[in-house]
Amino acid sequence: MNGLMMDMPLLISSIVEHAEKVNGDAEIVSVTADNPRHRYTYREAFARARRLAGALSARDLALGDRIGTLAWNDYRHFETYYGAACAGYVCHTINPRLFPEQLVYIINHAEDRYVFVDPDFVALAEGLAAQCPQVQGWVVLCSEERMPDTSLPNAICYETLVAGGDAGFVFPTLDEQAACALCYTSGTTGNPKGVLYSHRSTMLHSLATMMPDALGIARRDVVLPIVPMFHVNAWGMPYACPMAGAKLVFPGNKMGDGATLAELINEEEVTLSAGVPTVWLGLLAHLKSTGARIDSLRRIVVGGAACPLSIMEDMDGYGVETRVGWGMTEMSPLGSANNSADRRDDYSPQEFARVRLKAGRPIFGVQMKIVDDEGAELPWDGEAFGSLKVRGPWICSSYFKLEGVDAHAEDGWFETGDVATIDPDGFMAITDRTKDVIKSGGEWISSIEVENVATDHPKVAEAAVIGQYHPKWSERPLLIVVRGPGGEDLTAQEMLAWFDGKIAKWWIPEAVEFADELPHTATGKVQKVKLREAYKDFEFPG
Ligand code: ADP
Repeated sequence: MNGLMMDMPLLISSIVEHAEKVNGDAEIVSVTADNPRHRYTYREAFARARRLAGALSARDLALGDRIGTLAWNDYRHFETYYGAACAGYVCHTINPRLFPEQLVYIINHAEDRYVFVDPDFVALAEGLAAQCPQVQGWVVLCSEERMPDTSLPNAICYETLVAGGDAGFVFPTLDEQAACALCYTSGTTGNPKGVLYSHRSTMLHSLATMMPDALGIARRDVVLPIVPMFHVNAWGMPYACPMAGAKLVFPGNKMGDGATLAELINEEEVTLSAGVPTVWLGLLAHLKSTGARIDSLRRIVVGGAACPLSIMEDMDGYGVETRVGWGMTEMSPLGSANNSADRRDDYSPQEFARVRLKAGRPIFGVQMKIVDDEGAELPWDGEAFGSLKVRGPWICSSYFKLEGVDAHAEDGWFETGDVATIDPDGFMAITDRTKDVIKSGGEWISSIEVENVATDHPKVAEAAVIGQYHPKWSERPLLIVVRGPGGEDLTAQEMLAWFDGKIAKWWIPEAVEFADELPHTATGKVQKVKLREAYKDFEFPG
Protein backbone atom coordinates (compact mmCIF):
# COMPACT_ATOMS: atom_id res chain seq x y z
CA MET A 1 0.00 0.00 0.00
CA ASN A 2 1.37 3.41 -0.96
CA GLY A 3 1.33 6.38 1.34
CA LEU A 4 -1.06 9.16 0.55
CA MET A 5 1.27 12.11 0.35
CA MET A 6 1.67 14.58 -2.49
CA ASP A 7 4.06 13.57 -5.19
CA MET A 8 6.09 16.72 -5.73
CA PRO A 9 9.41 16.69 -7.55
CA LEU A 10 12.49 17.98 -5.74
CA LEU A 11 13.46 20.92 -7.95
CA ILE A 12 15.98 23.76 -7.63
CA SER A 13 13.14 26.15 -8.50
CA SER A 14 11.53 25.27 -5.16
CA ILE A 15 14.52 26.90 -3.40
CA VAL A 16 13.77 30.08 -5.33
CA GLU A 17 10.07 29.97 -4.54
CA HIS A 18 10.74 29.31 -0.87
CA ALA A 19 13.51 31.85 -0.42
CA GLU A 20 11.65 34.62 -2.26
CA LYS A 21 8.75 34.35 0.15
CA VAL A 22 10.40 33.27 3.38
CA ASN A 23 13.97 34.52 3.24
CA GLY A 24 13.59 37.38 0.78
CA ASP A 25 15.33 39.96 2.98
CA ALA A 26 18.47 37.93 3.66
CA GLU A 27 21.48 39.44 1.97
CA ILE A 28 24.04 38.41 -0.61
CA VAL A 29 27.25 40.42 -0.50
CA SER A 30 29.83 40.03 -3.29
CA VAL A 31 33.25 41.24 -4.27
CA THR A 32 33.18 41.74 -8.05
CA ALA A 33 35.40 43.23 -10.72
CA ASP A 34 33.29 46.41 -10.82
CA ASN A 35 32.22 46.70 -7.17
CA PRO A 36 34.26 45.78 -4.10
CA ARG A 37 31.08 45.26 -2.06
CA HIS A 38 27.95 44.60 -4.11
CA ARG A 39 25.00 44.08 -1.83
CA TYR A 40 21.40 43.02 -2.40
CA THR A 41 18.78 40.55 -1.13
CA TYR A 42 17.68 37.05 -2.09
CA ARG A 43 14.46 38.62 -3.34
CA GLU A 44 16.40 40.77 -5.80
CA ALA A 45 18.76 37.95 -6.72
CA PHE A 46 15.97 35.57 -7.60
CA ALA A 47 14.01 38.23 -9.51
CA ARG A 48 17.08 38.58 -11.71
CA ALA A 49 17.58 34.79 -11.94
CA ARG A 50 13.97 34.56 -13.09
CA ARG A 51 14.60 37.14 -15.81
CA LEU A 52 17.76 35.28 -16.82
CA ALA A 53 15.78 32.03 -17.05
CA GLY A 54 13.30 33.86 -19.28
CA ALA A 55 16.05 35.33 -21.43
CA LEU A 56 17.69 31.92 -21.92
CA SER A 57 14.36 30.27 -22.70
CA ALA A 58 13.74 32.86 -25.41
CA ARG A 59 16.87 31.67 -27.19
CA ASP A 60 17.28 28.64 -29.35
CA LEU A 61 17.95 26.14 -26.56
CA ALA A 62 16.56 22.70 -25.76
CA LEU A 63 15.90 21.44 -22.24
CA GLY A 64 19.10 19.90 -20.88
CA ASP A 65 21.42 22.11 -22.94
CA ARG A 66 24.57 23.15 -21.14
CA ILE A 67 25.39 26.71 -20.09
CA GLY A 68 29.07 27.02 -19.20
CA THR A 69 30.53 29.42 -16.64
CA LEU A 70 34.09 30.69 -16.22
CA ALA A 71 33.48 32.75 -13.12
CA TRP A 72 34.37 33.60 -9.53
CA ASN A 73 32.16 33.35 -6.47
CA ASP A 74 29.81 36.30 -6.84
CA TYR A 75 26.17 37.24 -7.26
CA ARG A 76 26.06 37.03 -11.07
CA HIS A 77 27.47 33.51 -10.95
CA PHE A 78 24.86 32.69 -8.29
CA GLU A 79 22.09 34.01 -10.56
CA THR A 80 23.45 31.92 -13.43
CA TYR A 81 23.29 28.75 -11.29
CA TYR A 82 19.57 29.37 -10.75
CA GLY A 83 18.64 30.98 -14.06
CA ALA A 84 20.06 28.04 -16.01
CA ALA A 85 18.85 25.20 -13.78
CA CYS A 86 15.35 26.53 -13.13
CA ALA A 87 14.73 27.03 -16.85
CA GLY A 88 15.68 23.39 -17.45
CA TYR A 89 19.27 23.86 -18.60
CA VAL A 90 22.44 22.59 -17.01
CA CYS A 91 24.82 25.00 -15.33
CA HIS A 92 28.26 23.73 -16.28
CA THR A 93 30.87 25.33 -14.00
CA ILE A 94 34.35 25.31 -15.51
CA ASN A 95 37.63 25.67 -13.61
CA PRO A 96 39.39 28.66 -15.20
CA ARG A 97 42.71 27.54 -13.74
CA LEU A 98 42.96 24.62 -16.13
CA PHE A 99 45.25 24.71 -19.13
CA PRO A 100 43.61 26.09 -22.33
CA GLU A 101 43.70 22.69 -24.06
CA GLN A 102 41.76 21.14 -21.18
CA LEU A 103 39.27 24.00 -21.20
CA VAL A 104 38.64 23.49 -24.92
CA TYR A 105 38.21 19.77 -24.33
CA ILE A 106 35.75 20.32 -21.48
CA ILE A 107 33.67 22.99 -23.26
CA ASN A 108 33.45 20.85 -26.39
CA HIS A 109 32.80 17.62 -24.55
CA ALA A 110 29.99 19.27 -22.59
CA GLU A 111 28.75 20.90 -25.83
CA ASP A 112 28.20 24.19 -24.03
CA ARG A 113 25.79 26.42 -25.98
CA TYR A 114 26.62 29.62 -24.11
CA VAL A 115 29.53 30.38 -21.83
CA PHE A 116 29.22 33.04 -19.12
CA VAL A 117 32.59 34.67 -18.53
CA ASP A 118 33.87 36.92 -15.74
CA PRO A 119 35.67 40.01 -17.10
CA ASP A 120 38.85 38.56 -15.56
CA PHE A 121 38.62 35.60 -17.94
CA VAL A 122 37.67 37.37 -21.18
CA ALA A 123 41.23 37.18 -22.53
CA LEU A 124 41.34 33.49 -21.64
CA ALA A 125 38.00 32.88 -23.39
CA GLU A 126 39.16 34.81 -26.48
CA GLY A 127 41.96 32.28 -26.83
CA LEU A 128 39.49 29.37 -26.68
CA ALA A 129 36.58 30.64 -28.76
CA ALA A 130 37.85 29.66 -32.23
CA GLN A 131 38.24 26.08 -31.05
CA CYS A 132 34.74 25.90 -29.56
CA PRO A 133 32.51 26.39 -32.61
CA GLN A 134 29.35 25.04 -30.98
CA VAL A 135 29.28 27.91 -28.46
CA GLN A 136 26.59 30.26 -29.77
CA GLY A 137 27.38 33.18 -27.52
CA TRP A 138 29.81 34.36 -24.86
CA VAL A 139 28.10 36.27 -22.08
CA VAL A 140 30.36 38.69 -20.20
CA LEU A 141 29.38 38.98 -16.54
CA CYS A 142 29.37 42.76 -16.28
CA SER A 143 27.34 45.92 -16.86
CA GLU A 144 27.08 47.70 -20.22
CA GLU A 145 29.50 50.44 -19.15
CA ARG A 146 32.06 47.80 -18.22
CA MET A 147 31.62 45.73 -21.36
CA PRO A 148 35.16 45.13 -22.65
CA ASP A 149 36.23 45.55 -26.21
CA THR A 150 36.44 41.88 -27.13
CA SER A 151 37.04 39.60 -30.07
CA LEU A 152 34.67 37.00 -28.59
CA PRO A 153 32.18 35.97 -31.27
CA ASN A 154 28.66 37.00 -30.36
CA ALA A 155 29.70 38.66 -27.12
CA ILE A 156 26.67 39.51 -24.99
CA CYS A 157 26.55 41.78 -21.98
CA TYR A 158 25.10 39.92 -18.98
CA GLU A 159 23.16 42.89 -17.66
CA THR A 160 21.60 43.48 -21.09
CA LEU A 161 20.63 39.83 -21.29
CA VAL A 162 19.01 39.90 -17.83
CA ALA A 163 17.22 43.20 -18.47
CA GLY A 164 15.63 41.73 -21.61
CA GLY A 165 14.29 38.63 -19.82
CA ASP A 166 10.67 38.11 -18.81
CA ALA A 167 10.20 39.21 -15.17
CA GLY A 168 7.13 36.98 -14.91
CA PHE A 169 8.80 33.89 -16.32
CA VAL A 170 7.23 30.76 -14.86
CA PHE A 171 9.69 27.95 -14.14
CA PRO A 172 8.78 24.71 -15.88
CA THR A 173 7.87 21.71 -13.73
CA LEU A 174 10.76 19.44 -14.55
CA ASP A 175 11.40 15.82 -13.76
CA GLU A 176 13.40 15.75 -10.51
CA GLN A 177 15.85 13.37 -12.16
CA ALA A 178 16.64 16.02 -14.81
CA ALA A 179 20.23 17.29 -14.80
CA CYS A 180 20.81 20.73 -13.27
CA ALA A 181 24.58 21.09 -12.96
CA LEU A 182 27.77 19.66 -14.39
CA CYS A 183 31.32 19.71 -13.06
CA TYR A 184 34.38 18.03 -14.60
CA THR A 185 36.99 16.35 -12.46
CA SER A 186 40.48 15.48 -13.65
CA GLY A 187 40.55 11.72 -13.85
CA THR A 188 43.49 9.55 -13.06
CA THR A 189 43.70 8.48 -16.68
CA GLY A 190 42.93 10.40 -19.81
CA ASN A 191 40.59 13.32 -20.07
CA PRO A 192 38.58 15.07 -17.37
CA LYS A 193 35.22 13.44 -16.67
CA GLY A 194 31.90 15.16 -16.19
CA VAL A 195 29.84 14.63 -13.05
CA LEU A 196 26.22 15.42 -13.87
CA TYR A 197 24.09 16.39 -10.87
CA SER A 198 20.30 16.11 -10.92
CA HIS A 199 17.74 18.41 -9.31
CA ARG A 200 16.89 15.59 -6.92
CA SER A 201 20.49 14.81 -5.93
CA THR A 202 21.26 18.49 -5.43
CA MET A 203 18.19 19.07 -3.26
CA LEU A 204 18.88 16.04 -1.08
CA HIS A 205 22.57 16.93 -0.76
CA SER A 206 21.68 20.51 0.18
CA LEU A 207 19.26 19.37 2.88
CA ALA A 208 21.89 17.00 4.22
CA THR A 209 24.65 19.62 4.31
CA MET A 210 22.44 21.91 6.40
CA MET A 211 22.25 19.31 9.20
CA PRO A 212 23.90 20.45 12.44
CA ASP A 213 26.55 17.74 12.32
CA ALA A 214 27.33 18.33 8.63
CA LEU A 215 28.03 21.95 7.61
CA GLY A 216 25.34 23.07 10.05
CA ILE A 217 23.75 26.03 8.25
CA ALA A 218 20.96 28.00 9.92
CA ARG A 219 19.10 31.24 9.27
CA ARG A 220 21.23 33.06 11.83
CA ASP A 221 24.41 32.22 9.92
CA VAL A 222 26.47 34.42 7.67
CA VAL A 223 28.27 32.08 5.30
CA LEU A 224 31.46 32.80 3.39
CA PRO A 225 32.13 30.07 0.81
CA ILE A 226 35.83 30.28 -0.03
CA VAL A 227 35.72 27.07 -1.99
CA PRO A 228 35.13 28.12 -5.61
CA MET A 229 31.72 27.90 -7.24
CA PHE A 230 33.51 26.14 -10.12
CA HIS A 231 34.58 23.40 -7.72
CA VAL A 232 31.63 21.08 -6.93
CA ASN A 233 29.15 23.95 -6.63
CA ALA A 234 31.09 25.49 -3.73
CA TRP A 235 30.25 22.34 -1.73
CA GLY A 236 26.54 23.05 -2.21
CA MET A 237 26.44 26.28 -0.17
CA PRO A 238 24.79 28.38 -2.91
CA TYR A 239 21.81 26.02 -2.62
CA ALA A 240 21.80 25.34 1.12
CA CYS A 241 22.07 29.00 2.19
CA PRO A 242 18.90 30.27 0.51
CA MET A 243 17.10 27.16 1.77
CA ALA A 244 18.10 28.08 5.32
CA GLY A 245 17.84 31.84 4.82
CA ALA A 246 21.50 32.37 5.75
CA LYS A 247 23.27 35.49 4.49
CA LEU A 248 25.87 34.72 1.80
CA VAL A 249 29.18 36.51 1.38
CA PHE A 250 31.03 35.89 -1.88
CA PRO A 251 34.75 36.77 -2.03
CA GLY A 252 34.97 37.13 -5.85
CA ASN A 253 38.54 36.92 -7.08
CA LYS A 254 39.90 37.58 -3.58
CA MET A 255 39.65 34.00 -2.38
CA GLY A 256 43.40 33.77 -1.81
CA ASP A 257 43.74 37.18 -0.17
CA GLY A 258 43.94 36.89 3.62
CA ALA A 259 43.40 40.63 4.16
CA THR A 260 40.15 40.72 2.14
CA LEU A 261 38.91 37.55 3.82
CA ALA A 262 39.53 39.02 7.28
CA GLU A 263 37.81 42.25 6.24
CA LEU A 264 34.78 40.39 4.90
CA ILE A 265 34.55 38.25 8.03
CA ASN A 266 34.64 41.26 10.34
CA GLU A 267 32.52 43.71 8.38
CA GLU A 268 29.83 41.22 7.33
CA GLU A 269 29.96 39.31 10.64
CA VAL A 270 30.63 35.96 9.03
CA THR A 271 29.85 33.01 11.34
CA LEU A 272 30.65 30.05 9.09
CA SER A 273 33.12 29.54 6.29
CA ALA A 274 34.48 26.66 4.24
CA GLY A 275 37.56 26.07 2.13
CA VAL A 276 40.67 23.99 1.50
CA PRO A 277 43.63 24.14 3.95
CA THR A 278 45.61 26.53 1.73
CA VAL A 279 43.14 29.41 2.16
CA TRP A 280 43.24 29.16 5.96
CA LEU A 281 47.00 29.43 5.91
CA GLY A 282 46.66 32.69 3.99
CA LEU A 283 44.08 34.03 6.42
CA LEU A 284 46.08 32.96 9.49
CA ALA A 285 49.27 34.53 8.13
CA HIS A 286 47.40 37.82 7.73
CA LEU A 287 45.92 37.63 11.23
CA LYS A 288 49.31 36.89 12.79
CA SER A 289 51.10 39.67 10.96
CA THR A 290 48.49 42.35 11.67
CA GLY A 291 47.07 41.25 15.03
CA ALA A 292 43.58 41.35 13.50
CA ARG A 293 40.80 39.20 15.02
CA ILE A 294 37.90 37.27 13.52
CA ASP A 295 35.54 37.31 16.47
CA SER A 296 32.27 36.70 14.64
CA LEU A 297 33.51 33.45 13.08
CA ARG A 298 32.32 30.37 14.95
CA ARG A 299 33.22 27.52 12.65
CA ILE A 300 35.22 26.67 9.55
CA VAL A 301 34.79 23.54 7.47
CA VAL A 302 38.04 22.34 5.97
CA GLY A 303 38.04 19.75 3.23
CA GLY A 304 39.48 18.81 -0.12
CA ALA A 305 42.71 17.74 1.54
CA ALA A 306 43.87 16.68 4.99
CA CYS A 307 43.84 19.60 7.43
CA PRO A 308 47.08 20.06 9.42
CA LEU A 309 46.72 20.16 13.21
CA SER A 310 48.50 23.53 13.26
CA ILE A 311 45.58 25.17 11.42
CA MET A 312 43.11 23.72 13.93
CA GLU A 313 45.16 24.84 16.92
CA ASP A 314 45.67 28.31 15.50
CA MET A 315 41.93 28.55 14.85
CA ASP A 316 41.26 27.37 18.45
CA GLY A 317 43.25 30.42 19.53
CA TYR A 318 40.82 32.65 17.63
CA GLY A 319 37.83 30.87 19.15
CA VAL A 320 36.95 29.17 15.87
CA GLU A 321 35.97 25.49 15.68
CA THR A 322 37.55 23.57 12.80
CA ARG A 323 35.40 20.84 11.33
CA VAL A 324 37.00 18.53 8.79
CA GLY A 325 34.82 17.48 5.89
CA TRP A 326 35.55 14.83 3.32
CA GLY A 327 33.99 14.31 -0.06
CA MET A 328 34.48 14.24 -3.79
CA THR A 329 33.17 15.95 -6.91
CA GLU A 330 31.46 12.61 -7.63
CA MET A 331 29.69 12.90 -4.24
CA SER A 332 28.20 16.41 -4.67
CA PRO A 333 30.63 16.53 -2.61
CA LEU A 334 29.89 15.90 1.08
CA GLY A 335 30.38 12.39 2.48
CA SER A 336 31.55 12.85 6.05
CA ALA A 337 32.13 15.51 8.66
CA ASN A 338 34.14 15.50 11.86
CA ASN A 339 32.05 16.76 14.77
CA SER A 340 34.43 15.55 17.50
CA ALA A 341 34.80 19.10 18.86
CA ASP A 342 31.26 18.80 20.29
CA ARG A 343 32.56 16.07 22.59
CA ARG A 344 35.94 17.58 23.26
CA ASP A 345 35.67 16.94 26.99
CA ASP A 346 35.20 13.21 26.43
CA TYR A 347 38.72 12.94 25.04
CA SER A 348 42.14 13.40 26.56
CA PRO A 349 44.05 16.22 24.82
CA GLN A 350 46.16 13.62 22.99
CA GLU A 351 43.11 11.62 21.88
CA PHE A 352 41.37 14.76 20.73
CA ALA A 353 44.40 15.83 18.68
CA ARG A 354 44.21 12.45 16.95
CA VAL A 355 40.47 12.16 16.41
CA ARG A 356 39.91 15.71 15.18
CA LEU A 357 42.25 15.08 12.25
CA LYS A 358 40.07 12.29 10.87
CA ALA A 359 37.79 12.81 7.88
CA GLY A 360 34.79 12.31 10.14
CA ARG A 361 31.61 10.33 10.37
CA PRO A 362 29.39 9.57 7.35
CA ILE A 363 26.50 11.99 7.12
CA PHE A 364 23.03 10.47 6.81
CA GLY A 365 22.47 9.52 3.18
CA VAL A 366 26.01 8.36 2.50
CA GLN A 367 26.84 4.72 3.14
CA MET A 368 30.47 3.70 3.45
CA LYS A 369 32.52 0.55 3.55
CA ILE A 370 36.18 -0.36 3.39
CA VAL A 371 37.26 -3.47 1.50
CA ASP A 372 40.46 -5.48 1.03
CA ASP A 373 42.04 -6.34 -2.34
CA GLU A 374 39.58 -9.22 -2.80
CA GLY A 375 36.60 -6.97 -2.13
CA ALA A 376 35.89 -8.45 1.32
CA GLU A 377 34.51 -5.92 3.79
CA LEU A 378 36.87 -4.91 6.59
CA PRO A 379 35.89 -4.21 10.20
CA TRP A 380 35.33 -0.72 11.61
CA ASP A 381 38.05 -1.14 14.21
CA GLY A 382 40.18 1.90 13.41
CA GLU A 383 43.06 -0.41 12.44
CA ALA A 384 42.12 -2.25 9.25
CA PHE A 385 42.57 -0.13 6.16
CA GLY A 386 41.22 -0.72 2.69
CA SER A 387 39.66 0.86 -0.39
CA LEU A 388 36.86 3.19 0.59
CA LYS A 389 33.56 2.69 -1.22
CA VAL A 390 30.41 4.78 -0.93
CA ARG A 391 26.85 4.86 -2.16
CA GLY A 392 23.89 7.14 -1.82
CA PRO A 393 21.38 9.32 -3.68
CA TRP A 394 23.89 12.14 -4.36
CA ILE A 395 26.72 9.91 -5.53
CA CYS A 396 27.62 9.61 -9.20
CA SER A 397 26.54 6.41 -10.97
CA SER A 398 28.17 7.18 -14.37
CA TYR A 399 30.10 10.03 -15.93
CA PHE A 400 28.56 12.31 -18.55
CA LYS A 401 28.60 10.73 -22.03
CA LEU A 402 30.37 7.69 -20.57
CA GLU A 403 27.13 6.08 -19.46
CA GLY A 404 28.30 2.69 -20.73
CA VAL A 405 31.36 2.97 -18.53
CA ASP A 406 30.01 2.87 -15.03
CA ALA A 407 31.63 5.05 -12.39
CA HIS A 408 30.74 2.41 -9.83
CA ALA A 409 31.86 -1.18 -9.78
CA GLU A 410 29.40 -4.00 -10.45
CA ASP A 411 28.34 -4.13 -6.82
CA GLY A 412 26.71 -0.69 -6.97
CA TRP A 413 29.29 1.01 -4.75
CA PHE A 414 31.38 3.94 -5.95
CA GLU A 415 35.11 3.37 -5.66
CA THR A 416 36.52 6.58 -4.18
CA GLY A 417 40.21 5.90 -4.86
CA ASP A 418 40.90 6.72 -1.21
CA VAL A 419 42.28 4.24 1.29
CA ALA A 420 40.82 4.57 4.77
CA THR A 421 40.26 3.19 8.24
CA ILE A 422 36.95 3.51 10.09
CA ASP A 423 36.88 3.34 13.88
CA PRO A 424 34.10 1.86 16.05
CA ASP A 425 32.56 5.36 16.48
CA GLY A 426 32.28 5.67 12.70
CA PHE A 427 35.14 8.14 12.28
CA MET A 428 36.74 7.52 8.91
CA ALA A 429 40.36 8.54 8.31
CA ILE A 430 42.05 8.72 4.92
CA THR A 431 45.41 6.94 5.04
CA ASP A 432 46.42 6.87 1.37
CA ARG A 433 45.14 7.12 -2.18
CA THR A 434 45.00 4.46 -4.88
CA LYS A 435 44.18 7.02 -7.59
CA ASP A 436 47.20 8.51 -9.24
CA VAL A 437 46.60 12.21 -8.81
CA ILE A 438 48.07 15.05 -6.82
CA LYS A 439 46.01 17.63 -5.01
CA SER A 440 47.61 21.05 -4.87
CA GLY A 441 45.73 23.85 -3.12
CA GLY A 442 42.50 21.88 -3.48
CA GLU A 443 42.76 21.27 -7.24
CA TRP A 444 43.82 18.14 -9.05
CA ILE A 445 47.01 17.69 -11.01
CA SER A 446 47.00 14.62 -13.22
CA SER A 447 50.30 12.79 -12.65
CA ILE A 448 49.96 11.03 -15.98
CA GLU A 449 49.92 14.24 -18.00
CA VAL A 450 52.96 15.57 -16.18
CA GLU A 451 54.76 12.25 -16.70
CA ASN A 452 53.92 12.23 -20.41
CA VAL A 453 55.48 15.64 -20.90
CA ALA A 454 58.54 14.61 -18.86
CA THR A 455 59.16 11.42 -20.84
CA ASP A 456 58.92 13.36 -24.11
CA HIS A 457 62.24 14.97 -23.13
CA PRO A 458 64.96 13.34 -25.25
CA LYS A 459 67.27 12.84 -22.28
CA VAL A 460 64.66 11.09 -20.10
CA ALA A 461 64.34 7.30 -19.99
CA GLU A 462 61.53 7.15 -17.45
CA ALA A 463 59.74 9.57 -15.16
CA ALA A 464 57.18 9.39 -12.39
CA VAL A 465 55.44 12.05 -10.40
CA ILE A 466 54.20 11.73 -6.84
CA GLY A 467 52.33 14.08 -4.55
CA GLN A 468 54.56 15.19 -1.71
CA TYR A 469 53.54 17.07 1.42
CA HIS A 470 53.87 20.82 1.03
CA PRO A 471 53.25 23.21 3.93
CA LYS A 472 51.31 25.75 1.83
CA TRP A 473 49.62 23.75 -0.93
CA SER A 474 48.99 20.48 1.01
CA GLU A 475 50.69 18.60 -1.83
CA ARG A 476 52.97 19.51 -4.70
CA PRO A 477 54.28 17.30 -7.50
CA LEU A 478 57.75 15.81 -7.08
CA LEU A 479 59.20 14.49 -10.32
CA ILE A 480 61.52 11.52 -10.22
CA VAL A 481 63.55 11.04 -13.39
CA VAL A 482 65.71 8.22 -14.70
CA ARG A 483 68.15 9.74 -17.17
CA GLY A 484 68.37 8.08 -20.60
CA PRO A 485 71.41 7.40 -22.81
CA GLY A 486 73.17 10.69 -23.50
CA GLY A 487 71.27 12.32 -20.67
CA GLU A 488 74.05 12.25 -18.10
CA ASP A 489 74.18 16.05 -18.08
CA LEU A 490 70.42 16.57 -17.62
CA THR A 491 69.85 18.99 -14.75
CA ALA A 492 66.75 19.70 -12.67
CA GLN A 493 66.68 23.21 -14.06
CA GLU A 494 66.69 22.00 -17.68
CA MET A 495 64.00 19.47 -16.83
CA LEU A 496 61.72 22.08 -15.24
CA ALA A 497 62.22 24.54 -18.12
CA TRP A 498 60.97 21.78 -20.46
CA PHE A 499 57.47 22.08 -18.98
CA ASP A 500 57.11 25.77 -19.82
CA GLY A 501 54.08 26.30 -22.05
CA LYS A 502 53.31 22.56 -22.17
CA ILE A 503 51.16 22.33 -19.04
CA ALA A 504 49.56 24.84 -16.69
CA LYS A 505 52.20 26.65 -14.63
CA TRP A 506 50.93 25.32 -11.32
CA TRP A 507 51.14 21.74 -12.66
CA ILE A 508 54.90 22.08 -13.18
CA PRO A 509 56.72 19.93 -10.60
CA GLU A 510 57.99 21.69 -7.52
CA ALA A 511 61.28 19.77 -7.62
CA VAL A 512 63.10 17.08 -9.58
CA GLU A 513 65.03 14.16 -8.13
CA PHE A 514 67.13 11.78 -10.21
CA ALA A 515 67.16 8.02 -9.63
CA ASP A 516 68.92 5.05 -11.24
CA GLU A 517 65.66 3.16 -11.61
CA LEU A 518 62.00 3.22 -10.55
CA PRO A 519 60.22 0.39 -8.71
CA HIS A 520 57.92 -1.62 -11.04
CA THR A 521 55.15 -4.18 -10.69
CA ALA A 522 55.30 -7.51 -12.50
CA THR A 523 53.34 -5.96 -15.35
CA GLY A 524 55.78 -3.06 -15.65
CA LYS A 525 53.73 -0.31 -13.96
CA VAL A 526 55.55 2.09 -11.69
CA GLN A 527 54.78 1.24 -8.07
CA LYS A 528 53.72 4.61 -6.73
CA VAL A 529 53.21 3.28 -3.22
CA LYS A 530 56.85 2.13 -3.08
CA LEU A 531 58.00 5.39 -4.62
CA ARG A 532 56.05 7.44 -2.08
CA GLU A 533 57.58 5.32 0.67
CA ALA A 534 61.10 5.89 -0.71
CA TYR A 535 60.63 9.67 -0.81
CA LYS A 536 58.54 10.06 2.35
CA ASP A 537 61.23 12.12 4.07
CA PHE A 538 61.83 14.36 1.08
CA GLU A 539 61.18 18.03 1.83
CA PHE A 540 60.77 20.74 -0.78
CA PRO A 541 63.48 23.35 -0.46
CA GLY A 542 62.18 26.32 1.59
P1 ADP B 1 36.64 18.08 -3.01
O1 ADP B 1 37.96 18.74 -3.14
O2 ADP B 1 35.53 19.02 -3.16
O3 ADP B 1 36.53 17.25 -1.79
P2 ADP B 1 37.48 16.46 -5.31
O4 ADP B 1 36.70 15.53 -6.13
O5 ADP B 1 38.24 17.55 -5.97
O6 ADP B 1 36.46 17.06 -4.25
O7 ADP B 1 38.52 15.66 -4.43
C1 ADP B 1 38.16 14.54 -3.69
C2 ADP B 1 39.39 13.91 -3.06
O8 ADP B 1 40.10 14.87 -2.26
C3 ADP B 1 39.09 12.78 -2.14
O9 ADP B 1 38.86 11.57 -2.83
C4 ADP B 1 40.36 12.75 -1.27
O10 ADP B 1 41.42 12.09 -1.92
C5 ADP B 1 40.70 14.22 -1.14
N1 ADP B 1 40.09 14.77 0.07
C6 ADP B 1 38.94 15.46 0.18
N2 ADP B 1 38.69 15.79 1.46
C7 ADP B 1 39.70 15.29 2.19
C8 ADP B 1 40.01 15.27 3.59
N3 ADP B 1 39.25 15.86 4.50
N4 ADP B 1 41.15 14.63 3.96
C9 ADP B 1 41.95 14.03 3.07
N5 ADP B 1 41.71 14.01 1.74
C10 ADP B 1 40.60 14.62 1.31
